[in-house]
Amino acid sequence: MVKTLTEVEVINSDTLTGVFEDTYNGVACIKLTFEQNEPKYMDCRRKEFKEKYVIAQNLVGEVVKVFAWDPDNEPGKWSSRNWFADLFPITIKKKSCKVCGISDNLLTYSDDFGKSWMHYSCKFPK
Ligand SMILES: [Zn+2]
Repeated sequence: MVKTLTEVEVINSDTLTGVFEDTYNGVACIKLTFEQNEPKYMDCRRKEFKEKYVIAQNLVGEVVKVFAWDPDNEPGKWSSRNWFADLFPITIKKKSCKVCGISDNLLTYSDDFGKSWMHYSCKFPK
């Protein structure tokens, strides 16, 4: 059986105040701190942790949305224990598309960790 994961929103909107290396439940991890929410953690053994660490450092001071992924058959397994899998800025000024110059809310692709943005369809034309 293929194990699937459900994305769970664990923070709807909060200011990211810091990014640290720490240990949580005895494992090395990234610790994110927030203005109003409890800290969230990502296990450093996850292959994407370095990328998320850099992304998070660039988002300190921004209002973000945070997601965890729970196995379909075990709701809350990770999300209820303050683990996180991903975070997205919701207030950052994305300016305009690096390719076509248009500024709208469809700028979803960044290859420099959120410093500049492109339309997915501009970055990967069909
Ligand atoms: Zn574009």
